[in-house]
Amino acid sequence: IAVFAPLFASEAQTKGINDLDPVVEHKIDSILELMTVKEKVGQMVQYNGSFDVTGAPSDIDSKTKLQKLKNGEVGSMLNVLTAEATREAQQVVMENSRLKIPLLFGYDVIHGYKTMFPVPLGESASWDLDAMELSASIAAKETAAAGVHWTFAPMIDVSRDARWGRIMEGAGEDPYLNAVIGVARIKGFQGSDLADVATIAACAKHFAGYGFAEAGRDYNTVNVGTSELQNAILMPFKAAAEAGVATFMNSFNEIDGVPSTASTYLQRDILKGVWDYKGFMVSDWGSIAELIPHGYAEDKMQAGELAVVAGSDMDMEGRVYEEALEPLVNENTIDEALLDDAVRRILRVKFHLGLFEDPYKYSDAQREQEVLLAEAHLEAARDIARKSIVLLKNENSVLPLSKALESITVIGPLADDKDSPLGNWRAQADKNSAVSVLEGIQNAVGKEVQINYAKGADLGMGERSFLMPLEINDTDTSGFAKAIEAAKKSEVVVMVLGEDAFQTGEGRSQTGIQLRGVQQELLDEVVKVNPNVVLVLMNGRPLDISKPNEEVSAIVETWFLGSQAGNAIADVLFGAYNPSGKLPISFPRNVGQEPLYYNQKNTGRPASDMVTYSGYQDSSREALFPFGFGLSYTTFEYGAISLSASEFSGEEKLEVTIELTNTGAVAGKETVQLYLRDLVASRTRPVKELRDFKQVSLKPGETKKVTFEISAKTLEFYTANNTWEAESGSFKVMLGSNSRDLKEASFQYKK
Ligand code: BGC
Repeated sequence: IAVFAPLFASEAQTKGINDLDPVVEHKIDSILELMTVKEKVGQMVQYNGSFDVTGAPSDIDSKTKLQKLKNGEVGSMLNVLTAEATREAQQVVMENSRLKIPLLFGYDVIHGYKTMFPVPLGESASWDLDAMELSASIAAKETAAAGVHWTFAPMIDVSRDARWGRIMEGAGEDPYLNAVIGVARIKGFQGSDLADVATIAACAKHFAGYGFAEAGRDYNTVNVGTSELQNAILMPFKAAAEAGVATFMNSFNEIDGVPSTASTYLQRDILKGVWDYKGFMVSDWGSIAELIPHGYAEDKMQAGELAVVAGSDMDMEGRVYEEALEPLVNENTIDEALLDDAVRRILRVKFHLGLFEDPYKYSDAQREQEVLLAEAHLEAARDIARKSIVLLKNENSVLPLSKALESITVIGPLADDKDSPLGNWRAQADKNSAVSVLEGIQNAVGKEVQINYAKGADLGMGERSFLMPLEINDTDTSGFAKAIEAAKKSEVVVMVLGEDAFQTGEGRSQTGIQLRGVQQELLDEVVKVNPNVVLVLMNGRPLDISKPNEEVSAIVETWFLGSQAGNAIADVLFGAYNPSGKLPISFPRNVGQEPLYYNQKNTGRPASDMVTYSGYQDSSREALFPFGFGLSYTTFEYGAISLSASEFSGEEKLEVTIELTNTGAVAGKETVQLYLRDLVASRTRPVKELRDFKQVSLKPGETKKVTFEISAKTLEFYTANNTWEAESGSFKVMLGSNSRDLKEASFQYKK
C-alpha cells in the first residue's frame, strides 16, 4: 500500500476533516454508545425535502417522512430551502427525537445559490483559481444563510466527450486542471473553518469514473484500466481528499463490472484506505437501489449489504438502508461496526459544522435577506463572468467594437434571452433573472448607438423537460427576412447562437454537437449580406463550429455566464475587459473526433501530416481550437526556455524560465501553461500533460520573466509499482499559450 503523499499540499490544506480532533472523536464515542441500531441507520438516511410539517394526511409520503424525522430515523435532507424551512425541519428533529442529533441539509449549489456565476466548465475557462474560490465562497455565504450546510459540489469528473451533457459541470478534460480548480472551489465553499456560518461543507463527486461513460451516454458503462483510473480519473479526487473536502459522493456508473456504489476497491481500499480519508461518502440519488437494475444485487437487502460493506455511508433517497440495515445487523449478516464507522464519519461532519453547538445557527432569515443577491456578489459575478469568456477568433481586429458606431445589429435566439445565461443546475436563481446580451450591449453603449435587434430563429430544441428527448429539430425560417434586413442596416452584426441552458446537464447527452434548429442557416444568410459578423456563443459543451469559423470575423465563447452574463459579454465586446479566458476543453472539428483531448497517449504508429496511421482518413485528428487556447486583444511573444540545470535529482528543484512580452498595443493578461512529457516510463504517459500555469499581466511593450519550479512532485504519476512517484529518466518541458503552440526544452531527472 502506497504512502499517502499530498500532490497539491502546499496551498491546498483547509483545516479539515482529516485532522482528527480527539475531543470530537470522544464525543462521537459517547453518542454512539447511546444509539440503537435503528438510530444509527437513521443517521445514514437522507430524504428529499418535500414534506409537510403538519403531516397532512393527504400526503402519505410526507406524513411518513415527518414521523421518521420525529423518530430520529433521518440524518440528512436535501432540497429543503430557505431559512424558515430548514429551521422548521430542524425543529421537528430537535424537539421530538430521542437523541436530538441535528439534521444536515444538502443542496446542489453548483455555480451559485441566488447570484449565479458561470457554469463550472465556463468558469474553469478563467483559469483564475482565486476568482473561482471567491465565487464558491459567495455561493456558500448565500446558501448557508438559508440554513443549508452542504453543497453537492464540486464535480471533478474529468470529462472528454462533448456528447456528455454533464460536461458543463466540471473543469473539462484535464486531470490537473480539475484537481486545482476542485481544490480552489472546496476552499471557497469550506473556508478555513467549517463552523463559520458563512461556509458550507463541500462534496467531491462523482466517485468515480462518471465522466468516462461510453460514447458520452449518461449513467453508462466505464471500462478503464489501473493507469487511466489513477492518473486521469482519481487524481483530482486524491487532491480533494488531501484538501480536506468534507464529503464525497459516489457515482451512478459501473466501472470494470462493479457499480461504483458497491465498489469496495474505490471507496474502502483507495479512498478510506490508501488516502486515509475521514469524511463520509453519500450515495448518488438512489444509486444504492440502482444496484438492482444494474444486475449486481438481487433485492434491497443485498443492495444495502453491498453498499455498506463497500463504504457508502449515506443513502440519498434510495430507501434501501432504512429497510435493509437493521435486519442485516440483527441477522449478523453485517457487522454493526460498519454502521459505527459510517455514523462516526457523518457525525464528524456535523461536529465540524458546529451543529451540535447550535443546530439553528445557519438558518437566519435576516442574514438570508441581507446576503442574497448582495451588490458585492453581483459585482463579483460580473468579474468572474468576463474572466471566463474565451476569444476564439478575431480577424482584422474586428473586436473590440467601437462605441462610436452609428448602429449595431444584434441577431439570434439567445440575444434577448434572460434565462439561458443562468445555465442548468441554477439552484435558487429566479427565472429570467440574467442580464441578456441585448441588455448588456444597451447598458454599454447608452442611447448614442442605434441597436437593431431581430431574433431570427429559435434554438430548435422544443420544450425543456427533464430527461426527455429533444423535440423535432425546428425548421421555421420565418424570422430570417427581418434578421437579414436588420443585418444590412449596421456596420457590425453581433449574432448570439448556441444552446438552451437545459441542453446540457444531467441526462442531456446528444449525438450531435452542431448548432441545432436553423441557426446555421440563419448565420449563412446573415453573412451573405454583412461580412462583419461577431459570433457570440452560449453553450455548456464544446460545439462543432467548423462552418461558423469559416464564415465569421470573430468568435467569442461565453458559455452560460450567470446573472451578469450580458454585462460581462459587453465588457469584452467593447474592450472594457481584454479577454483572457482559455479553453478547459478541446473544441473538435466534428463530432466523430469525440472523445477528443490533448493529453492523449502516443501509439506505436503516431499520425503525422503525411500519413494518417492512428488518425482519420477523412478528417484531421487535431482539434479546431485546442485545450488551453484563447486570444487576447493584445499579442504575446514567448522567448526561449531556459533551465537552471539540464538535470536534477532527488529532492532538488529545477527552475524553468521563459520571457514573455506584450507585443501589442493594449494591456493584457496571459496564462502561461507548463506541460510535461515523460519520455519513457513504466506505464505509458501522455504526449503532454499540464502540470502548472501562471497568469501574468503585462502592459504594452512590457516583458516579464516567468519562472516555474519543477520538483519530483511535478513528475509524479501512478507507476507500475502502483504508487505515486517520480521515475528517473528524460523529460520534455513545454511552455506556451495553449496546448498546441509550445516552446520546449529537455532535462533529466534521477531519483
Ligand atoms: C446527481 C448528483 C446530484 C444529486 C442530488 C443526482 O441525480 O447525479 O450530481 O448531486 O442528484 O440532486
